[in-house]
This record gives sequence, C-alpha cells and structure tokens, in this order.
Amino acid sequence: MEFPITELLDYENSTEWILKHFHPKGLQCPKCKKTVKQSRKFRRTQTSELVVHRCYNCDTIYNLYTGTIFQGSQWSVKQVVLLMRGICKKGETTRELAAELGLSYKTVLVMRHKVQDNAELEQPNTPLPDSHSETDEMFQNAGEKRCTSSRS
Ligand SMILES: [Zn+2]
Repeated sequence: MEFPITELLDYENSTEWILKHFHPKGLQCPKCKKTVKQSRKFRRTQTSELVVHRCYNCDTIYNLYTGTIFQGSQWSVKQVVLLMRGICKKGETTRELAAELGLSYKTVLVMRHKVQDNAELEQPNTPLPDSHSETDEMFQNAGEKRCTSSRS
C-alpha cells in the first residue's frame, strides 16, 4: 500500500536531521562563515517553512538548504528526510517515493539524480570500510552542492 507519510514525521526532528547530515559543522553564513548565532531570523519561506537567517556581519540571507542540492527548492524538511532515507537506506523506487512524498514522479526523479550525481562525484578511489560510511558520505554529499558548471 502506498500513502503519503510526511505527516508522520516531526518538523523539528527533520530539521535537526538535515542540520546534522548536511551541515556537520553547523549552519553558517555561506559568504563570511559566521555561525547562525551571529544572524537574526529574517523570515520564514512560504512552502518549505524554512527559517531564513540574515547575517549580522555581511547581510547575506541563507537557510537550511543554502549550499545544498535542495537550495531553491520548495521541498519540506520532512520530504527531504524521506527522500534521503528512501534512496540511501531503503533503495525505494522513484515511483514509490513519489507516492510517499506526495510529489510528482518527475520531481522526485530529478532530485534523485542530483543526490546520486553528487555521491558519484565524491567517490573515493579506495573502498570504504563499511556500507554505513558510504551512506553517511552520501548524506553529506547532498549537503554540499557541487559547482555544476565545471562538469559541462
Ligand atoms: Zn555573513
């Protein structure tokens, strides 16, 4: 049975999970690298409900997705967590994921490719000690958006 399960996840926990895996050093200003504590809450994005921070030091605005492959997307934090779980831990099909997330097949497919492309770019030449490390790397890679212009 397929059904949207985003309601089962908590906003706060999903935000914490993304922070931990996409920003292991903590959320910071993408321009001057000041910590999130050195910013003020500026507003909240409408669809994703992300807190937008404005840096006290340089006035740059940023949010939880800044610098990640989800930057500029309208995905909710719950959808991001479920996508990463579905791809990295469960190996779910794109069709299953789209149904669970309440998103279109194409939207999920495009994001899935971004996640996988980022993971492939970061593949080390030496084998990793275990599959757990590989999954952790994949999460962190999704959190560090690569410069796509250098690849074309
Ligand atoms: Zn700054």
